[in-house]
Amino acid sequence: RALSKRFSIGTRFSSEGRRVVHAVDNVSLTVRRGETVGLVGESGCGKSTLARCLVRLYDITDGQLLFDGDDITAKSLAELRPVRRRLQMVFQDPSASLNPRRRVGDLVAEPLRVHAKLTSAGIRERVAELFDLVGLLPDHVGRYPHEFSGGQRQRVGIARAIALNPDLVVLDEPVSALDVSVQAQIVNLLADLQDKLKLTYIFIAHDLSVVRQVSTRIAVMYLGSIVEEGPSEEVFSAPAHPYSQALISAVPVVETTPSGRRKRIILSGDVPSPLKPPAGCRFHPRCPVAKDRCRTERPALVEHKSGRKVACHFPASV
Ligand code: SF4
Ligand code: MG
Repeated sequence: RALSKRFSIGTRFSSEGRRVVHAVDNVSLTVRRGETVGLVGESGCGKSTLARCLVRLYDITDGQLLFDGDDITAKSLAELRPVRRRLQMVFQDPSASLNPRRRVGDLVAEPLRVHAKLTSAGIRERVAELFDLVGLLPDHVGRYPHEFSGGQRQRVGIARAIALNPDLVVLDEPVSALDVSVQAQIVNLLADLQDKLKLTYIFIAHDLSVVRQVSTRIAVMYLGSIVEEGPSEEVFSAPAHPYSQALISAVPVVETTPSGRRKRIILSGDVPSPLKPPAGCRFHPRCPVAKDRCRTERPALVEHKSGRKVACHFPASV
């Protein structure tokens, strides 16, 4: 939790209807309406913290958080209510985020009771509609979370998140706790809902193959900062930052590349503590191509002609 205080984050819509997210150190990330931005990096890199700051589950002590032009950095819970319904989050472990003593119908109805001006009949109707949207059966409403499989519980979590017709849904490792076969079903469901409901997603995951599948754009995080950002396919096929190269090289290649097999880059050393980051480039102690300059001078996230953003003094061609 203390970590969140080290972040300054801003999101805003520019006049073209883009959302811009600023993390610490002038790092920025653009999310267009209707797209999915994949946020990747090793565990502990700050992905979840960033996510929680974005939906104001964590307080932001430094910096600014703008949503659709509205400064929500310091809004009280009451002031946040109208924003909250447009900004939702789905968590990794649905069993931890669902109250085990409440029926799933009630769990899905809860945001509607709090935020929507509906009669109880209206709420019942909307819950039925949401169950249908996420692929749960009508007679599931009376069950408890423990009577459900992990995948079904995540469907409940998703139904809660979309209950109020949000614009942006932050998905924090939504399929990481599920079996592989179930993962695909939930990923398909999310894609389906995005289409139907015109949702914008921030999809956090450490499983890069899932991220590649769902994201239009990806942002790679290392020690609390974004080190590379760009269109998903471009970053996956030609990562420019040495850290992205290492991460992506560890993903099994499905299609054959012109150069044949890709060489896996193994990083030495552990991720340093974000509380005591190395001087200069934070990646330099583990970077296979670090030079003297990297030890003293911190690279900024620079936008290249191709549109790719990279925080490295010596990026691969972009
Ligand atoms: Fe490696 Fe230097 Fe680039 Fe950092 S700035 S990623 S140490 S080459
Ligand atoms: Mg996490």
